[in-house]
Amino acid sequence: MKPLGPIPAGYGAIDGVLAVGGQKVAQLVDMAGGTPLFVYSEDMLRTRVAQLRNAMPERLEIHYAIKANPFIPILKVFSELVDGFDIASGGELDIVTAAGIDPALVSFAGPGKRDRELEAAISAGVTLNLESEAEAMRAIAIGERLGKTPRLAIRVNPDFDLKGSGMKMGGGAKPFGLDAERVPALVREVIASGAEWRGFLIFAGSQALDAEAVADTQAQTLELAARLVRECNSPLPHCNLGGGFGIPYFPGDVPLDLALVGEKLAAQFDTLPAELADTDFCIELGRYLVGESGVYLATVIDRKDSHGEVFLVTDGGMHHQLAASGNFGTVVRRNYPAAIATKFVAEPQEEASIVGCLCTPLDRLSDKGHFPRADVGDIVAIFCAGAYGASASPSAFLGQGPALEMLV
Ligand SMILES: *Cc1c(COP(=O)(O)O)cnc(C)c1O
Repeated sequence: MKPLGPIPAGYGAIDGVLAVGGQKVAQLVDMAGGTPLFVYSEDMLRTRVAQLRNAMPERLEIHYAIKANPFIPILKVFSELVDGFDIASGGELDIVTAAGIDPALVSFAGPGKRDRELEAAISAGVTLNLESEAEAMRAIAIGERLGKTPRLAIRVNPDFDLKGSGMKMGGGAKPFGLDAERVPALVREVIASGAEWRGFLIFAGSQALDAEAVADTQAQTLELAARLVRECNSPLPHCNLGGGFGIPYFPGDVPLDLALVGEKLAAQFDTLPAELADTDFCIELGRYLVGESGVYLATVIDRKDSHGEVFLVTDGGMHHQLAASGNFGTVVRRNYPAAIATKFVAEPQEEASIVGCLCTPLDRLSDKGHFPRADVGDIVAIFCAGAYGASASPSAFLGQGPALEMLV
């Protein structure tokens, strides 16, 4: 028996069946036209943003990093709730445009931006988070050619990382951003070019559950920003402090203490160095905003026994849930929260592994969990599926194709 991760708050049951947004998942599956299906809860998205606003200082803007989940109905909900959107490709620019989001609220980070992506972003008035000097020169030249003033910020590769984060994005040699000591020279060039100077993005890591570590990183980020402002001797209009707020996926994970992060940041804002007195600040979050609001549903197609172990073979799999299968940046495979959705309140009776329909041993959604007995036709639920599920899994693998998605 292996433990399962904690089921996020906000899920209930109706007649013993898992319910989202006041409807049984069996009903949602019928409405959507079948499984595999991602269901996202609008209520939970709204609640999450409200909790965040409540905990964070008012001065802090909240941006949504759409790579966690670019489903257009979710972007439309967030366009009422957040202050900005962060994209990381020309394809994501097309998505935010299709969602009707004002390009002035969008910033574009990511290494390897092609000229046509820079052109599209500059034409639309999106802020570019420059990843290198060479990219800066291309952006400035494209702006001149288009007769359009580019809005330029610099992504700084900080000389520290976010402790305990699941994915380190700063500290040492990195393909992201410009090493801090080279930033002041580039700021001067950007300003001299006549571009609109927007400020810094300083992103140090992802998926941290330790509030002290997040707060320390934010303090170091503010210190670094102030130092760079002193060195380049120009005011800083905007500073994106990165994000890194994590969610509990695995057994024993404890939710981030949001109140503590908010208190510490408020204290930092109260004692800002003079260089940053007029700067606007934001954080950019992906998984924290959407991860727990989504559940992945798949139907049991076969129930098998092999050498005394039970396998629930479903019509879903790692092609939609790469991270839950343990194949997306995890070292040791651990179980995401999972349940038999159609027997949500029944007592666990047996050890079973939930697997997908792909012909590879990697395709395991839950390993030796303790579940009520499930049979062919039952629906299984994998939680924490709102971020990096549909958008970050190899849905073309084995000709399977994407899952259905719905917002309720
Ligand atoms: C991926 C990414 C994010 C979002 O990360 P989460 O862990 O989903 O919050 C934010 N900013 C940048 C620059 C990123 O690359």
